[in-house]
Amino acid sequence: MTVEHTADDHLELVRDLLSRMTVAEKLGQLQQLSWNSATGPGGGETEEIENAAREGRLGSVLNITGATHTNALQRLAVEESRLGIPLIFGLDVIHGYWTTFPIPLAQAASWDPAVAERDGEVSAEEARSAGVHWTFNPMMDVCHEPRWGRIAESAGEDPYLTAVLTAAKVRGYQGPTLSADPRKVAACAKHFAAYGGAEGGRDYNTVDVSEQRLRNVYLPPFKAALDAGVATVMASFNTVSGVPAHANSHLLTEVLREEWKYDGMVVSDWTGVQELIAHGLAEDGADAIRQALGAGVDMEMVSTHITEHGEKLLAAGAIDPARLDEAVSRVLLLKARLGLFTAPYAEESAEITEPGAEARRAARETAARTLVLLKNETAANGASVLPLPATAASVAVVGSFALSTDLHGTWAGPGAARFAATTVLEGLREALPATEVLYAEGEAEAIAAVREADVTVVAVGEPSEISGEASTRADISLPEGQAELIRQVASVGKPFAVVVFGGRPLTMEEWIDEAPAVLFAWHPGLEGGHAVADVLTGKVNPSAKLPVTFPRSAGQIPLYYNHENTGRPADPADPKVPFRSFYLDVEHGPRFAFGHGLSYTRFETGAPVLSRTEISLRELGEGGSVEVTVPVRNAGDVAGTEVVQVYVHDRAASIVQPVRRLRGFARVELAPGQSEEVVVRLDSEDLGFWDNDPAGNYRVETGAFDIYAGTDSTATAHTTLHVV
Ligand code: BGC
Repeated sequence: MTVEHTADDHLELVRDLLSRMTVAEKLGQLQQLSWNSATGPGGGETEEIENAAREGRLGSVLNITGATHTNALQRLAVEESRLGIPLIFGLDVIHGYWTTFPIPLAQAASWDPAVAERDGEVSAEEARSAGVHWTFNPMMDVCHEPRWGRIAESAGEDPYLTAVLTAAKVRGYQGPTLSADPRKVAACAKHFAAYGGAEGGRDYNTVDVSEQRLRNVYLPPFKAALDAGVATVMASFNTVSGVPAHANSHLLTEVLREEWKYDGMVVSDWTGVQELIAHGLAEDGADAIRQALGAGVDMEMVSTHITEHGEKLLAAGAIDPARLDEAVSRVLLLKARLGLFTAPYAEESAEITEPGAEARRAARETAARTLVLLKNETAANGASVLPLPATAASVAVVGSFALSTDLHGTWAGPGAARFAATTVLEGLREALPATEVLYAEGEAEAIAAVREADVTVVAVGEPSEISGEASTRADISLPEGQAELIRQVASVGKPFAVVVFGGRPLTMEEWIDEAPAVLFAWHPGLEGGHAVADVLTGKVNPSAKLPVTFPRSAGQIPLYYNHENTGRPADPADPKVPFRSFYLDVEHGPRFAFGHGLSYTRFETGAPVLSRTEISLRELGEGGSVEVTVPVRNAGDVAGTEVVQVYVHDRAASIVQPVRRLRGFARVELAPGQSEEVVVRLDSEDLGFWDNDPAGNYRVETGAFDIYAGTDSTATAHTTLHVV
């Protein structure tokens, strides 16, 4: 029998426990240790973690997995500690547990919240069955920095797209609300905040950001995650305008608690409390935890200042006992809402131990939706390289990623070590049973295969180990030798397509002009080879769009579509005009714009039409809106999906506005010849902005707004809306 607990029951349970807990037990609830690299009380052995659990001096453990393992540790807390408070087990389940989905940046390229939600559902079910209650995901750091390795974990450069995708991921993990459902896990909105703004893209680096940029660019996805009910928030490693996020009470208290009324739990990042010392904010560990707790961190990950110094700080009046109780209540409430007091154990017989057939199918389908067709030239005879012609007698597959199983990407779950990803070669051999698929190792043999085959697929890319945390690159081109291979293949003079794998936008100037077709495949996960073959052969028509700008040169970074104009905007039509804002030695603008992505069919989008061309501030304030209708037609020969994008530009405002901002989009599936009208609604949330007031001041102002619609962020078709 399952017993339904109401929110009141949970509060009652928390109140009762709090009234019976000792100070040491309270402090213990705020301590999280890592199973495999604990620095915990007494020196970091698992035995120390076990003792702490038994003695009620521990609230949470991360990096412990498997039903048997988690249950064994849980038993100590539940059956041997004085109050029997269960532990909560956390893990970075970022894009899959056993079944690896594409990296989050790739998922964002689908522009399809269903993709993120599906990953969340499958991941939650697999992880929870192994005793994991809580994932440290989704990461929603808006990022203008392809050099930063963690861009792979992000949803790219746009606040709106990031908000849509990550809120969907939260729903996938948690369901509509956090509950005791044993197929769900608690999610964590991270990293709060502005981590993606690290100077130079160097991980953990300084962020100095104006209030308006903080609120317009970095914070909206967090607000959306909170609205989706995200159970926890993680502080970020960086400083934010001089104050490290872990001790930043503007962010953690004023914005998160007072303004947004968030009542969930805030966890530190890995040794983030300790790092306040290296940042130069705290004098020592005691000072660090005093500041972090005071600013709003509830649980300390890995460093142990809360349990080491808490009692002393309380006795000295340096920690407010009410603040301690508040933090402890949040931890207990999280456990209660997850049902851990009534069902603390994973059901060992129900543990999922491998990717199921359904999960694999989902991974394959979603991966195919994330592959971006960057380029696909049409030859003089009217044919494009892709999809690979069904008539080809032979296809050569060359390049270091042809046989690579390194497709899981950064922060893959335990499945990455146990289950090899399907390779491009395997995928193509399965997809083309009647075609001879040639593979040759070594450069000379590869070129011989290219000569022999009708068409070639060159699979190249960035290995996953140079993507992810602490993996910043100054040069974001293809690693050594690969550009040269592409050029050699090109010199053979036969049709070929390049498939590029990577965890970030890569620069391609050394070879792109010589490549007639390019498919960007990110790190597509367990079913990567199948998904790539599905798209290369045309079984799936590509529909993905870039969630991030691809620069021509790393020297252009930061380069993002929603920038502000200078007083002397670069004029792409006349880039040689002196004293303008462009580089002398790189062609102006990106190689591939935000929102770009081709299809095997051809879409025509018409100019946007407004339901009304004028709306008053009063109407907007009362919830009024304007409908933007965009006609779209499949003008080609095959069915396909277009992502119609709507951008807004506020021509003149009291704070300079980006040249355009994505405010809505829709995926439309169209048969050949079919037309549809996409409708996007614009309301005050789409037309206004936050100003520089730290107290939070959202403004919608009168004036003219250009409304652009089309296939990517360079769309020119537009109309004008007047706010009066
Ligand atoms: C990362 C977090 C992650 C944590 C726990 C840190 O290094 O910044 O995103 O959740 O480790 O593994």
